[in-house]
Amino acid sequence: MPHPIQFIGAGPGDPDLLTRKALRGLQEADVILHDRLIAPEILALAGPGARLEDVGKTGFGPHTPQDAINARLVTLGRAGLRVVRLKAGDPTVFGRLDEEIEAVEAAGLGHVIVPGITAASAAMAGIGQSFTRRGRNSATRLITGHDTQGYTDHDWRALARPGEVAAIYMGGRAARFIQGRLLMHGAAPDTPVTFVENASRADQRVIATTLAAMAAEIGDAAPRGPVLTILGLAPRAAAARLPVLRRGLHEELA
Ligand code: SAH
Repeated sequence: MPHPIQFIGAGPGDPDLLTRKALRGLQEADVILHDRLIAPEILALAGPGARLEDVGKTGFGPHTPQDAINARLVTLGRAGLRVVRLKAGDPTVFGRLDEEIEAVEAAGLGHVIVPGITAASAAMAGIGQSFTRRGRNSATRLITGHDTQGYTDHDWRALARPGEVAAIYMGGRAARFIQGRLLMHGAAPDTPVTFVENASRADQRVIATTLAAMAAEIGDAAPRGPVLTILGLAPRAAAARLPVLRRGLHEELA
């Protein structure tokens, strides 16, 4: 019996945020197919016998075609290897997981999913805020700034309502588009927006701004790492004393 393909969540970057199950998978793997976003400190936890293959994609940049990743999973799985498909954060969140599972299933291979801490959870921890809060937002959204077709459309009217909170993945380059759509649908220009770059990592950077200024702020900040955009929340005052860069909301109010 071939081993099931393991789809493992690597979490947001801090190796201490890996689950024990993820760590065991990394240590026992023969081959690990990983995204480009995976922190080197996490890849360093792979067992000595594991071969690492970067099958990464960058937002708009060069990438390994999805079909090639699917085919690779099948080839390695059929060869009887213990295959780990390591994905940033949680594999079920904007991870193209279904496409890979379908390919693996079609090849008659089994699979398991090991959840991980998604970027939104790490970013919320980074700004000291709660994703949901009684009396403020009883629902929240995980949305993507762009997909294979380009910038994604959403229920902007709903997102523009006061008190809405959303975690926007892959939103950095879509900032101007998102800003425009929200303002057009009546969102208050002073709605808080917080960018968290490299959430949970040693080089985490928090940029607190407003809807009116978000596109300019992220442009100036020129992030190099992954950025999670939080709509509707500013860093908690205590968290704002941690490195909040640029002319953030709190500094303006201070
Ligand atoms: N499956 C991943 C998301 C993959 S989509 C998860 O659950 O987190 C890639 C996007 O995730 C990035 O564009 C960015 O918006 C976000 N992201 C991933 N890791 C991040 C990190 N450490 N800090 C901030 N954003 C991150």
